[in-house]
Amino acid sequence: MNPAAAAKLGHWHARLDAWQGGDTLLLRSPAQAWCDRRAAGRLAVLGYHGVEDPSTFEAHLDLLQRRFVPVSLERVEEAAHGGWALPARSVLVTFDDGDHSVHTHALPLLAARGIPAVCFVIPGLVGTDAPFWWDEAEHLVRHSGTTHRVPPNQPDITVHTLKLLSERERQLALAELRATATAPCSRQRQLTTAQLRELEKNGVVVGNHTLTHPCLDRCDDDQVRREVLEAHERLTELTGRPPTSFAYPNGNVDERAHRFLTQAGYRSGFLYNHRLADPGACHPLRIDRLVVSSRTSVDRLETILSGLRPALFRAGRRAARAVARASQPLSSKS
Ligand SMILES: [Zn+2]
Repeated sequence: MNPAAAAKLGHWHARLDAWQGGDTLLLRSPAQAWCDRRAAGRLAVLGYHGVEDPSTFEAHLDLLQRRFVPVSLERVEEAAHGGWALPARSVLVTFDDGDHSVHTHALPLLAARGIPAVCFVIPGLVGTDAPFWWDEAEHLVRHSGTTHRVPPNQPDITVHTLKLLSERERQLALAELRATATAPCSRQRQLTTAQLRELEKNGVVVGNHTLTHPCLDRCDDDQVRREVLEAHERLTELTGRPPTSFAYPNGNVDERAHRFLTQAGYRSGFLYNHRLADPGACHPLRIDRLVVSSRTSVDRLETILSGLRPALFRAGRRAARAVARASQPLSSKS
């Protein structure tokens, strides 16, 4: 298949994915009923970031209360270490990055329903007004920032490319973007120590998401140690207890991080791979998670919780890869 046809296919795949009506059709399909029955024995770990749409997020929580069994991190860790099995239809709610909205919007809604959760925090940002680096990079590219370390592209694609650089190169690229952009990124409200403690007091456990959120597989050994263990020490000071749970930034697993987490006594580690989890069968430091956002429609959430949409997503990705391979000129194939 030629590149133009491959691009067209990719475009239609994206449009199909964005089609909300498709969620209603999927929800009523026999495939949903079959996946739903099959998913009952698995754990659904929902991976949110911020809460941009509190009313839809509230509808998510109502669905979880009505049809699922929200469980605590402690129960998941017990099950992952061979303890009591989790009840059918267990769900664990998690948030990555420690966006301020987790305190402002999510906490009251979770606390009112008694739904436990985990918030994976970047302690290097706590108590500051520094933006997340990926938000800053997008802003700088939108304001004519350039770096010779990645090809010029759309802001979101630039961020994606920056994640592929070594950590040192990424830092240098960011410095170049700052030096060349016409306007600096505005400051961002980050969680404070008092807010972290309030989260913990009200059922939202604070977990480790590294000190500054690099992609660990792009770091050298010292950087990995620092990112995992300094974050661990900082979070212990901030919350008054050592964290037991970790989420890999960008979902990028790293063997060295795994070793440091084991040394520091971590009981759980979470991926970001859009799969239902089986804590009785997986390694406790590699628990699968589902990708969701507070803007995900409730219909779509149901098809995610059944595992149907993740399965379709994987099938689409496999097809896109096959198309890309088939579109490569013969000389570049090995
Ligand atoms: Zn993250």
